[in-house]
Amino acid sequence: MRIVVSACLAGFSCRYDGKANTVPFIRSLYERNLVLPLCPECLGGLPVPRTPCEIRADRVISKNGTDCTQNFMSGAFLALQYARFYGANFAILKEKSPSCGVGQVYDGTFSKTLIKGDGIFARMLRENNFFVCTEKDSVLEKFLTWFSCDYE
Ligand code: SF4
Repeated sequence: MRIVVSACLAGFSCRYDGKANTVPFIRSLYERNLVLPLCPECLGGLPVPRTPCEIRADRVISKNGTDCTQNFMSGAFLALQYARFYGANFAILKEKSPSCGVGQVYDGTFSKTLIKGDGIFARMLRENNFFVCTEKDSVLEKFLTWFSCDYE
């Protein structure tokens, strides 16, 4: 099984604020060449740092009102192609992100309100038969046992 991960979870400073969301066990998998890190927002041409965005209905809107839907869609599509080329069918993604969130995302009001739904990249992966989970999901423990990796 090959696995893709949100690049920020592997320690890449690609978040909107120029920081990473490093998770030690995911960083460890990356350092052992066991996962492919991808950042769909960067692949979509968005800079680091950038204005944060949230999904509002069928669009992705930045906090200053710019419609970034095209960047999110093209970046997710490109990331999907990399994931396929890598031979992956499993993804560990950053929770709540408008690109990578799985199962819940912010509601588009920038008020930290969560609603049910997937980020653009997570949704695209699901539609292409990937199994997706977040860095917080318990299903990861099984895979970490398989990889003999410490869970932190
Ligand atoms: Fe991390 Fe995904 Fe956001 Fe990139 S798009 S910073 S990988 S959560």
